[in-house]
Amino acid sequence: CGIIGFTGYTEAKKVLIDGLTALEYRGYDSAGIAFYQQGSIKTIKTTGKVSILADKVAALKIPDEEGSSCGIGHTRWATHGGVTDTNAHPHTAGKVTLIHNGIIENYRELEIRLKEEGRTPVSQTDTEIAALLLDSLYEGDALKAIRQAVELIEGAYAFCIIFADQPEVIYSLRNSSPLVACHAKEGSIIASDMVALIDYSKDYFVVPEMHVVTLTKKKITLTDLDGNQVCPRMLHVNWDM
Ligand code: GLU
Repeated sequence: CGIIGFTGYTEAKKVLIDGLTALEYRGYDSAGIAFYQQGSIKTIKTTGKVSILADKVAALKIPDEEGSSCGIGHTRWATHGGVTDTNAHPHTAGKVTLIHNGIIENYRELEIRLKEEGRTPVSQTDTEIAALLLDSLYEGDALKAIRQAVELIEGAYAFCIIFADQPEVIYSLRNSSPLVACHAKEGSIIASDMVALIDYSKDYFVVPEMHVVTLTKKKITLTDLDGNQVCPRMLHVNWDM
């Protein structure tokens, strides 16, 4: 299973598919991407290989355009819900589209609560519950909604989140599951593994647990859950792929 997020100056679809291909060795059963296209979020996902996803994306003949340089990509290793196109990530609820590696332990409890508010999932995944929860908390302030959501979510996770009304910004955080990030001339990139970043930069940082990473094309900002900005501890790799 793997995660990639990119916002920058080149076409996102290619960066995402290349990243997912690099992460294939981690094992997975489905793959998907979501990206901003003409002001809205477009999601393409499928069971099976990243190459099937790549074919599906190519078949849509989506024009490369300015404004499609931000998106998120995921390879899923199903833990909750069968291997189906619907259960593949990204998952969308209202303004929130997200990908997730890991397990949300208390998703049933959260689901009951959300259903009482009239929010019903369309998939069988624990992940979609996180999307519904975040959307229920989001009132325009992403950091606030994320902070409130993590107080309610129990489990292991790495998330990449995009909001329909915040084009070109990616929010990310993790608890136990891995995430690394780097800024390069192409833009800002986050992934579950350095192998997906190495083509862009050898300088990176390991995302500290329970910190929010905000990626824009110009920079990456790291904040703790109280909203204080934190300086990432940069690392360097000296190997090539
Ligand atoms: N628990 C999630 C699901 O089954 C994420 C699995 C993963 O880490 O890929 O959809």
